[in-house]
Amino acid sequence: MTETRRISIFGSTGSVGQSAIDVIRHANRSGQRFELVALASGRKASALAAQALEMKPQVAVIADETQLPELRDRLRGSGIEAAAGEAAMIEAARRPCDRFLAAIVGAAGLKSTMAAVDAGNHLALANKESIVCAGTILIDAAAKKNVSIFPVDSEHSAIFQCIGDGRSLEKLTLTASGGPFRLATLEQMAGATPAQAAAHPKWSMGLKISIDSATLMNKALELIEAAILFKVGAERVDVLVHPQSIIHGMAHFTDGSVIAQLGSPDMRTPISLALGWPDRVETTVERLDLAKVGQLEFGPVDETRFRSITLARRAFSLGPAGPVILNSANESAVSAFIDGKCGFLDIGWAVEAALDHFASSNLASTKCTTLEEVASLDNHGRWLTGDLLKNAPSRAGGVSAWKA
Ligand code: MG
Repeated sequence: MTETRRISIFGSTGSVGQSAIDVIRHANRSGQRFELVALASGRKASALAAQALEMKPQVAVIADETQLPELRDRLRGSGIEAAAGEAAMIEAARRPCDRFLAAIVGAAGLKSTMAAVDAGNHLALANKESIVCAGTILIDAAAKKNVSIFPVDSEHSAIFQCIGDGRSLEKLTLTASGGPFRLATLEQMAGATPAQAAAHPKWSMGLKISIDSATLMNKALELIEAAILFKVGAERVDVLVHPQSIIHGMAHFTDGSVIAQLGSPDMRTPISLALGWPDRVETTVERLDLAKVGQLEFGPVDETRFRSITLARRAFSLGPAGPVILNSANESAVSAFIDGKCGFLDIGWAVEAALDHFASSNLASTKCTTLEEVASLDNHGRWLTGDLLKNAPSRAGGVSAWKA
């Protein structure tokens, strides 16, 4: 990079945020120049303060206002502003930067991401829910402000690198490691604990996304994300199980040619690409040695054990409101699972039941043209799922409920 690049990181203490700081730390040591504008975290004041003291942003913001005194205390004398609460998050998101890394998990990241776009900040987008739930709103707003969206999700980063100008594209393929239950039986999955579900074989990630990888809901959300981001229908996005996670995504063209992107499974590669594009940033990511890897395996998704991909296509076919319900139902069911209130397979069951209820309700025609509409649907999806989970199959018959 020839010029200094200004970066804001929202969700800086999460898994992607920490990796981004690692990328920047190393890049700056090797002569590239990144400068931090804002760091924001939900409720980890001490971790945020430590990052701020090292990276020297203009401002550090904590969403949880009760933690402002601690943040202030730790940053006293550093010259770094400390702020808290939603209005401060929005103000910080609007500060001019070259890349706004949107890495807050779940629907909670939507407002700050929209504020960043509105201020004309280019997005490095790690928050897939903002595309899944408000894709049209976000993409329209970005187009209006000439804002580019650089995907951070490894599969979408791969496709971004493979797709070229998108001409003569036939379809896209997202790869999936298959998660910790790739070879598990339905009975084993029914009895799975949150700790087992979160033990991802290839990627080290946050808790929610790790559970989503175990259900393949992460891939389902990614399918919708790809369909919206690359403007192809959901039917033109395939999912391929690839346990080694070396190939991240592929673009297939009408002449039969397929372009794939490969690399060690390490989020620092797609993060650095989104922060540095069109330049490549030097990273310490382990270099790919295919002779050492030896074999790459591929297979189809077993849709009887993993319903998520089918549910994603169904949700997408319901129009813009479908993915909002899919996402909110999933978030609600995943927290119930983490809290021990339902079983692992109940997650997919609840999402499917929520989609069924929603499809036959008068909300199904919601156009989702405003964030308020999205937020109200999101609430509805959570409420609906909480209600449905009272009758979850695992409560009725335990593991045996899944044998049929
Ligand atoms: Mg991904």
